[in-house]
Amino acid sequence: MNCFSGSPPSGLLNSELLQYLRGNDDHAEHHITLLQQAETCLKNPSVDAADRMDVAGRIERWRYQTLNEWRDEPVPGQEQLIDSLDRWTCWLRQIDRETPRSLRHHLTSASSDDDTWQAAIDGRMAMPELCEAAQQKTHRLFSVSVSDQPNATKRRMLLYAPLYVSSHCVNHCVYCGFKYDMDIQRTHLDIDDVMVQADILLDNGFQHQLLVAGDFPRLTTTSYFCDLIQCMRDRGLEISIEIASQSSDSYQAMADAGATGLTLYQETYDPEVYRLVHPRGPKQSYDWRLEAPERAAETGFSRIGIGVLLGLADPVSDVQMMIRHAKYLKHQFPHLRLALSLPRLHQTPDGYQVKHPIDDEQLIRFYAACRLAIPDVELVLSTREPAALRDRLAKICITQMSAGSSTTPGGYQSDGCKQDDADPDGQFPVTDQRSVHQVRDWLCKENFDVRWRFA
Ligand code: SF4
Repeated sequence: MNCFSGSPPSGLLNSELLQYLRGNDDHAEHHITLLQQAETCLKNPSVDAADRMDVAGRIERWRYQTLNEWRDEPVPGQEQLIDSLDRWTCWLRQIDRETPRSLRHHLTSASSDDDTWQAAIDGRMAMPELCEAAQQKTHRLFSVSVSDQPNATKRRMLLYAPLYVSSHCVNHCVYCGFKYDMDIQRTHLDIDDVMVQADILLDNGFQHQLLVAGDFPRLTTTSYFCDLIQCMRDRGLEISIEIASQSSDSYQAMADAGATGLTLYQETYDPEVYRLVHPRGPKQSYDWRLEAPERAAETGFSRIGIGVLLGLADPVSDVQMMIRHAKYLKHQFPHLRLALSLPRLHQTPDGYQVKHPIDDEQLIRFYAACRLAIPDVELVLSTREPAALRDRLAKICITQMSAGSSTTPGGYQSDGCKQDDADPDGQFPVTDQRSVHQVRDWLCKENFDVRWRFA
């Protein structure tokens, strides 16, 4: 089946596609009607843009369902249908793309891999040599001049804070403290409560804040996030989101509301492990999540962070795939500010044991390898890791750190950002318990230029 012959406005709904749908799709007539509506939109420039986007959204949902079916039980011709529907949505959204999105193929191709960073990841490069190379690249690309001292430079370091707004979640991610069947006290903050938290963080210096939430469709709606983003933007904050994968329409609404950054970790790029560790809930859909950063970039997000959760699967393979994913995004969106993160599993809920424990030296190796693979990428480190290791990694290659973090909605106190050692209702334990001021003071002492926002 060749669904890609021709380009709009001619050759859209070709006989091969119609024949395929009539022979394989239980909802063929409904879907053919939808494609006919799409064809009308494309052939008639006077069709209202909102109507055109509505049709695009419905075709994207159809593609989402087909992606899930294809992953569960592939049917001949289905993959071409997935690509065909991608073309239709791109045409309707007026996204300039010559070929269908090809991330799932790109990730399994080693053709873009460079042996230097491969050797760094798989252990062939010695640690001292690797760390020195990573440190030099970081200094070269992330240093700023000191205004009153000619020839003096400082390393830039952005401090950010996660702002948890909801711990309700319908997903069953086996490694997470918020998973649906965990017996914890759940909290969903209303807009006033979120602004109290945002103001506390702002008082502590954080002008860049990361909105974090579980996935609970009745509560964590697009309009909920848009309202939060607008209020935070009105306070002059830079806002990133770390929430469930969204449709293009939702990302567009959040970008329009003022969000500029997306953090979304694939967790693992091994589809089989992914399936095992996400046994129930909407996050089960590997491909929908995989393509989410690209959808966000298409709607105008200018900063995208991806990552893997080390401990779930073979780390060498996961880091390698994450780098390929990052290079793919960089190729598709050359002006995107990309970030990579390697959160590591420490404690997990009862019933799940970390399958691939990672020691400190391996973690340093993987971060340093990321620096060699994509020299100008932002590297992000959270408070999951202990203070001494964070300090060491900061000097080698990290460019963004959280500090004084709480992983509980409403967890920031008005007298400062320091949290209790073990919060039973948090998403994960915070290991670096220093206050934001202690982290800032250490960075200043070590000659870092501490930043609180990107722009
Ligand atoms: S990782 Fe995210 S989606 Fe999964 S259970 Fe935790 S909060 Fe929910």
